Amino acid sequence: MIPHTVRDLAYVLKTTPYKDRDVIAVLFTESKGKFTSIARNGVQSRRFGGSLDLFTASDFEIDSKTIQLSEVTDERLVQILSAQSRHACGKLSKYFEKLSAASCLNEILLKALPAHKPANEIFKLYGNCLIALEEMEYSKASAIVNAFILKFTQWLGVQPSLTRCLACQKTLAEVSGNEVYAQVSQGAWLCETCTQGRSEQKRTALSKTLMFDAYQAMLNPIRKTQFEAGPNEHEALLGFLEQHLLYFVPGLDRQPLSSTRFLKFQLPFA
Ligand SMILES: [Zn+2]
Repeated sequence: MIPHTVRDLAYVLKTTPYKDRDVIAVLFTESKGKFTSIARNGVQSRRFGGSLDLFTASDFEIDSKTIQLSEVTDERLVQILSAQSRHACGKLSKYFEKLSAASCLNEILLKALPAHKPANEIFKLYGNCLIALEEMEYSKASAIVNAFILKFTQWLGVQPSLTRCLACQKTLAEVSGNEVYAQVSQGAWLCETCTQGRSEQKRTALSKTLMFDAYQAMLNPIRKTQFEAGPNEHEALLGFLEQHLLYFVPGLDRQPLSSTRFLKFQLPFA
């Protein structure tokens, strides 16, 4: 190995062609977190194989000296010297829902994960979510995105408060009715009794089954979580969590998520 060279397991979150043959890639690495890199001659080079494809875990060899391409961006880039793909999530592309869900995860990391900060837990979570998306039924795709967002908000320290009604402090098992109502600006929910006569607080109804899924997702590893609520219910939770991210993650309000819209439609056989 030449000096300055570092090896790291990484996923590519996004690629952009640069000039004729180079590729700018946002990498999410196991030990150094997220940063922008350049693969010289990356367009067709055999050195990179399929490792610049999205949703592929690869061993990257990078030159840790940064270089600046002022015509592209002020951000300093590291150079990818070589890469070898280890696991490609090829089965994702067979299902629109799975591919859309995986794209959501990438968009969330691109917009909300701080750059140049080690995020090993999130790296593992992301890898496990991709595997879960491959293994589980396509109708669970939005449930997996929800579980990812919930765990990601825990890591960021901005998780919604889901265990008790914001007003009466009763637990989900204690409150009456089958639904609770999400309150975005408070990052919490209100029960049926506490929202009586206030229709403006009832815009986002979430079923109790769905809330139990959310608890399970926060407590268990993603691949051990049983999701009981249906895809339409999970779309409602996704809508809430998306607004929650926009409200509580600095900077996200200026660049809302765009990929979640592909997960918000009625699934045919659900
Ligand atoms: Zn209440």
